[in-house]
Amino acid sequence: MSTEKLANLIFPEATDSLLDLERKYPARLLKEGADVTRFAPSPTGFLHTGSLFTAMIAKTCAAQTEGVFFLRLEDTDTKREIEGAGETLLKEMKLFDVFPDEGYLGTHEAGAYGPYKQSERAPIYKTVIKQMIKDNLAYPCFCTNHDLSLLRATQEGNKVVPGYYGPYATCSFLSSEDDITKIENGEPFVMRFRSHGNHETKIKFNDLIKGDIEIAENDQHIVILKSDGLPTYHFAHVCDDHFMRTTLVTRGEEWISSVPLHIQLFDALKFNTPRYAHLPVINKLDNGNKRKLSKRKDPEAAVTYFLNLGYPVKAILTYLMSIANSNFEEWWTNNKTAPLSAFPFNLGKMSVDGALFDLEKVNFFAREYIATLNAKEVVEEFLSFAKAQGNTSLVNRIESNKSLFEMILNIERETPKPRKDYYQYDMIYDSIKFFFVDEFNAMIENGLIEEFNPQISKEDLVLILNDFKMRLVYKQGNELWFDSVKQIAASHNFALNGKEFKSNPSLYKGMVADIAEILRISVVGSRKSPNLYEILTILGQAEVNRRIDAILAMIALTDN
Ligand code: GLU
Repeated sequence: MSTEKLANLIFPEATDSLLDLERKYPARLLKEGADVTRFAPSPTGFLHTGSLFTAMIAKTCAAQTEGVFFLRLEDTDTKREIEGAGETLLKEMKLFDVFPDEGYLGTHEAGAYGPYKQSERAPIYKTVIKQMIKDNLAYPCFCTNHDLSLLRATQEGNKVVPGYYGPYATCSFLSSEDDITKIENGEPFVMRFRSHGNHETKIKFNDLIKGDIEIAENDQHIVILKSDGLPTYHFAHVCDDHFMRTTLVTRGEEWISSVPLHIQLFDALKFNTPRYAHLPVINKLDNGNKRKLSKRKDPEAAVTYFLNLGYPVKAILTYLMSIANSNFEEWWTNNKTAPLSAFPFNLGKMSVDGALFDLEKVNFFAREYIATLNAKEVVEEFLSFAKAQGNTSLVNRIESNKSLFEMILNIERETPKPRKDYYQYDMIYDSIKFFFVDEFNAMIENGLIEEFNPQISKEDLVLILNDFKMRLVYKQGNELWFDSVKQIAASHNFALNGKEFKSNPSLYKGMVADIAEILRISVVGSRKSPNLYEILTILGQAEVNRRIDAILAMIALTDN
């Protein structure tokens, strides 16, 4: 009965029994096959792109089976704690459509299996460990850091497996009476798990992604409760996933080597072991070498990178799904506008090796996504982006010119092959600002109009520009407009097509494309733009002529 005495001495405040906990957190009433999954981040201040991937998979697995996806905040590392980090995380999860159904939600908690912050679960851990002491599954360890370094040095010298196990687990040999005396003497201690495993024995388990795995059994008497009264990851995982009734643990593959320990803990406590799916790490190619996407080296490792540039959220999720399942892209090709939840995601089709993060591919999905939207939708998303950026002048401009923005962003959109030039909302304004009179004037004032082709003389340029004012045809469709451009070209001795020009270059000053370029530079300020006819139509004849006058004035000021 001295284990009982020891248990009461260490945890006098823990008056619940394991049975009380079982009753308090009963099995969930879900339909057969429904999975309870979770995302269990440490609040480090931001949502990592790799964590977004993890959360997306966990949410998908729950949603597909009509289960529950909850969030547990693993905030036991008080040294790494950052003020407000949990809230920021949840905000970002909301923006990325991976908000949990239950758990710690940033400003409050929801669900019957809480508290969902590990720092608030001490009574549960204590109750479990108290029972473990009674069952001889846990004991206090009084070894100091110095003792442990000596142990390590001896083990290294003797070339034996390092760690606190078997004959090296000195405190495991103390009697409960010894423990009680030491505790009463005020000796500091941690709690350890008494493992009966042997690392020469192999255990087998199934991982839903990696398949059958065989690894050495755990024999380490790991620390389960630190001297600050907080649990270690391994113990908290077992306790929390049991009492939160998780059925499927999806987490990073760095935990795979700990599974033997986790299974041993579940078995020792007579808890059902959940199913495991260890997700591949997202890597990056750095000078030809694969390495983990790193928050220090790679800006794209934080999801805020994508938000700040205005990447459409769906595109990021689409990309992540494409690295999750190799058959995804084929499905997506035929279902570009379908919600991602319609994809039959399958853990079994997950790539086993780490995926490579590819920004070009992200851009590809983003271009494709924006191309599926109609102009109204693009303007709405663009406006939301401007608002999120706190860019009030842009917000005002969009809000007071909505139909103009819609016309502009409709250029070459409703066609069988829509333009796919935008992949982030950050790119839009700069490319269309020439539509606005104040912006175009500023371009002239600041000398930002691209230079005209120097092969064309200033005299010809002036004549051609004046002709644009007089002879361009508006409101009659693209073809008649282009006929008018051709007529201007012909009258200034420019060939009507490349073939004609090449067959006799000495006869011509250039070709019709050169004339169109002059017009484009005069109204856009640059030789690159979407369909010129549509631009002219939106600007209208009066504004086009005003710009041509401004360009003529600019030319008049330049010497030849
Ligand atoms: N807090 C752990 C981590 O961030 C959670 C791992 C898990 O999902 O169990 O790696």
